[in-house]
Amino acid sequence: MKKIAILGSTGSIGTQTLDVVDITKEYEVCALSAHSNVMLMENQIRKYNPRVVSMTDEKAAADLKVRVADTSVKVLSGIDGVCECASLEEVETVVTAIVGIAGLKPTMSAINSGKRIALANKETLVTAGSIVMSEASKRNVEIIPVDSEHSAIFQSISNQREFLNKIIITASGGPFFGKSADELSDVTPEMALKHPNWNMGAKITIDSATLVNKGLEIIEAMHLFGISVDKIQPVVHRESIIHSMVEFCDGSVIAQMGVPDMKLPISYALSYPERTVPVSKPLDLVSVSKLTFYDIDNEAFPSVGLAKKAAVAGGVMCAVYNGANEAAVELFLNQRCKFNEITTLIQKAMEKCPKVINPTLNDIFMADSYAREIVKECC
Ligand code: NDP
Ligand code: MG
Repeated sequence: MKKIAILGSTGSIGTQTLDVVDITKEYEVCALSAHSNVMLMENQIRKYNPRVVSMTDEKAAADLKVRVADTSVKVLSGIDGVCECASLEEVETVVTAIVGIAGLKPTMSAINSGKRIALANKETLVTAGSIVMSEASKRNVEIIPVDSEHSAIFQSISNQREFLNKIIITASGGPFFGKSADELSDVTPEMALKHPNWNMGAKITIDSATLVNKGLEIIEAMHLFGISVDKIQPVVHRESIIHSMVEFCDGSVIAQMGVPDMKLPISYALSYPERTVPVSKPLDLVSVSKLTFYDIDNEAFPSVGLAKKAAVAGGVMCAVYNGANEAAVELFLNQRCKFNEITTLIQKAMEKCPKVINPTLNDIFMADSYAREIVKECC
């Protein structure tokens, strides 16, 4: 039994990771963390019997302690508690499934403790990719992607990184594919929360509707695979069957395919370099029948171009892109800004934020706060 910790166990990726644990019966859950969902955490403690859990919300942690007083679990709180879960001695692999930049510190703790990382929290690499990758390499820590596109790229490259010419990253196009900027002006949170192919947490579902998610993923791929952004081509692929492709120097293109089910990349990130029993329905290409591909509409969805600009600018600019987006998505979900304003607010924050070369983690957190302030002021 491989020993794992799941950070963000009550979320979409967290619960699907526990589904993979149930199906494969190959993992022992040693630690879990969540923010405030006490009821689900209690159920998970009773089912998986972890040694340690942590709730970042202090009140939730206090409530949980009372509820599970009859068990032997140790309940921690705050971000320090999550970092402790990430660095427990017995844990081999840490699944990072917290949403947002809140995942950065615990992921660094896991890396500093030499754990293998099954990385779902893309904001970690987006905000602090250079620092994270260099710390991981210093400690020989493997970062195995959970994000379906990056898992596909990782699998397609296999051991041929030296021959890699280009990455073709696929995008479902989200619920508003084909719409013009004008048609997007009255989009409500309810409309944006309906994704055609994937069932995910609220923040990433909005990111998929604005295509910010593809912007974040381009930056994530740049760091994970050490490739410049001009060699990463986003392509809309409505069916979400090809999860991404790589082109090698001889012109050969390798794609990874599968039904759109996150259990597949989660399972691979846990079992790599081996594979497990099936964790999902088989792919029936005859019933899919047709695979389609389109260019990104950069006019209706300027977020991808902005992400590329941030990646080229380097320094703290990607942290600004991410922080502004996190703040703007929250405003949109609370109906305090319009759908199209999410990208405008990101752009404003990028224009206003001072440049920092070779940032430290502290600079990154400062840039994140600054970007959030700008978004609040501008809205
Ligand atoms: P969810 O919103 O469904 O879950 C987020 C998890 O993080 C929950 O366990 C939540 O706890 C916890 N959490 C929320 N805020 C904090 C905080 N401030 N500190 C600590 N923990 C917190 O998100 P998803 O599972 O959809 O996404 C998780 C990550 O994986 C994101 O980075 C996303 O981009 C990435 N990802 C997700 C995919 C998907 O299919 N869902 C696909 C690819 C990548 P609580 O429930 O108590 O609030
Ligand atoms: Mg993805």
